[in-house]
Amino acid sequence: MAEAGTLHDAFIDELRDTYDAEKQLTKALPKLAKASSNSKLRQAFESHLEETQGQVERLEQVFESLGEKVRGKHCDGIAGIIEEGKSIMEEDFDDTTMDACLIAAGQRAEHYEMAAYGTLVAWAQAMGHAEAAKLLQQTLDEEKAADKKLSGLAEGGINQSAADAAHSEEDEEPEAAVAGGPRKSAAKSGRR
Ligand code: ZN
Ligand code: FE
Ligand code: FE
Repeated sequence: MAEAGTLHDAFIDELRDTYDAEKQLTKALPKLAKASSNSKLRQAFESHLEETQGQVERLEQVFESLGEKVRGKHCDGIAGIIEEGKSIMEEDFDDTTMDACLIAAGQRAEHYEMAAYGTLVAWAQAMGHAEAAKLLQQTLDEEKAADKKLSGLAEGGINQSAADAAHSEEDEEPEAAVAGGPRKSAAKSGRR
């Protein structure tokens, strides 16, 4: 029987997985940017794309610092998140609702990455891989900042304007105000 793998082996494995995830994201982020109507949202995705390209290079430095070959291993987790993002983009939503949905998709990816880098930093620290820990922490900070920026855009207007659009139709109908009342609005807003 082969010798049991160690935390160091698991660490290298996770690094390969994350390297692949970042590469997948460099292909997905331009699509999120292109689908955005809000210019600040588009810029947020575009600037995170640039950061992500830097993160790919940073992971290459991590592999080098550990004397490991640079190699990726297919990341199923991020592939699934990207797949869900693609189905959202195929939906026929109004512009601001689509923006709200793109933020939701983007934040799923950021949180996945935050989980991955949080683990990688902790493991690198535990094993005394100081250089790797420092580099991984830099990326973790960027992911957290990207997530915060998306929250800021959602809560700073995009969600509210999507919510307003969700209720504007029924407000335009005169009978809704006369006979409909809250029950009718509730029924209407529940339709697909
Ligand atoms: Zn180690
Ligand atoms: Fe990333
Ligand atoms: Fe990210």
